[in-house]
Amino acid sequence: MISFEQALAAVRQRAGPQPDVLLAADAALGHVLAEDCIATESLPGFDNAAMDGFALSAAHLALPPGTPIALHGVQAAGDARFTLGAAACRIMTGAVVPEGTATVVPVEDATVQTAADGSQTVVLTAPASAGMHIRRAGEDVPAGTAVLAAGTRLLPQHRMLLAALGISEVRVRAPVLAAVLCTGAELVDDHAALDDGQIRNSNGPYLRAALPAMGATVALYRRLPDSSTAYVEAVRAAEQAGCRIIVSTGAVSMGVHDFVPDALRALGAEVVFHKLQMRPGKPTLFAVLPSGALLFGLPGNPMSCAVGARFFVQAALRQMQGLPPERPLRAVLQAPVRKKPGWTLIQKAALAVSDDAQLQLRVLAGQESFRIQPFAQANAWAVLPESDTALEAGRVLACYPLQPALVEWPCVPVSA
Ligand code: AMP
Ligand code: MG
Repeated sequence: MISFEQALAAVRQRAGPQPDVLLAADAALGHVLAEDCIATESLPGFDNAAMDGFALSAAHLALPPGTPIALHGVQAAGDARFTLGAAACRIMTGAVVPEGTATVVPVEDATVQTAADGSQTVVLTAPASAGMHIRRAGEDVPAGTAVLAAGTRLLPQHRMLLAALGISEVRVRAPVLAAVLCTGAELVDDHAALDDGQIRNSNGPYLRAALPAMGATVALYRRLPDSSTAYVEAVRAAEQAGCRIIVSTGAVSMGVHDFVPDALRALGAEVVFHKLQMRPGKPTLFAVLPSGALLFGLPGNPMSCAVGARFFVQAALRQMQGLPPERPLRAVLQAPVRKKPGWTLIQKAALAVSDDAQLQLRVLAGQESFRIQPFAQANAWAVLPESDTALEAGRVLACYPLQPALVEWPCVPVSA
């Protein structure tokens, strides 16, 4: 049997990067940039007012303090640029700065007087100098700069930047299509009535929820009887639908209906590993189909399924999306834990941040692989290393957010 780390390495080794595709910016959300994104426009695109106020020329600024300055016209956001004459003009936030403007004085720093004939003057009530309250063209992004690096997962904050720069299409790693196949004669979907011995299918809905959060699109979903023929047929259908990742649950253990290894042999798949020194999820299977699609045979116990998806399917998806292997968080164990040597335990855990910025980890009660309730209360997976038997409080342990984080946390080396 191979170790958890060896299994992860084997998955990473078999998962190659997806080809890249050009997608509309909205469709690219959640996908990973295949190349740097270069700005073809500057941001701001032109010098514009940062405040509602008055545009003054250099001549106005040279006047003695308190001199009334003739005021004429309004430059509003969206107006074409005009040229400042002898008079100052009103200007609104975001308006292009008129030709000849030396500074913008905010409304709060001036008073306006209206004469009997309706003409207006403005008097400054605070000192003004050149270049105030003007957002310069290119101050945020000069044209030609790389604004987003290859490997960035496109999130709403990036969508704002692309929109501001008029970038409507981006090149991303092709979305990965995935299939979810749930085996088990006992399974019933959703709220249908249960007969003797039947249970509700919880793995299927879980995977349908979890895989998109890892960047995969579930293109095929089937609940299957305990039949090798049905399994083979469903795997073929998944490949035909373009699925590069196939996740099945159940039928990989030692039971009489655990037919997945045989079905995979019939499909001509290479079984890379089956069974590993990890709990939950000891019977986990990983195979490569002749088409190159990756098949994860996860055990049916809900926690084995969750761990298999979180660690192995996620590791493959990161490779396929051109992302480096995920780095664990490191947190301080709050209470001692005992375990058998020879097994990596992946435990439901609660991660918290103390007032003094320390990540703290607590392993939850109820680690059996059928227990779903503590999973819903957990926010992290703690990884208890294979060789350890007794882990003391205060020990620093690797752990992972329960669902993969969308943003990458850069690792800062500890200063000497
Ligand atoms: P298996 O891996 O097929 O031997 O199943 C192991 C355990 O997981 C059994 O108790 C199954 O009833 C249960 N199980 C299998 N598939 C599912 C599923 N989709 N949802 C919830 N429990 C399941
Ligand atoms: Mg089964």
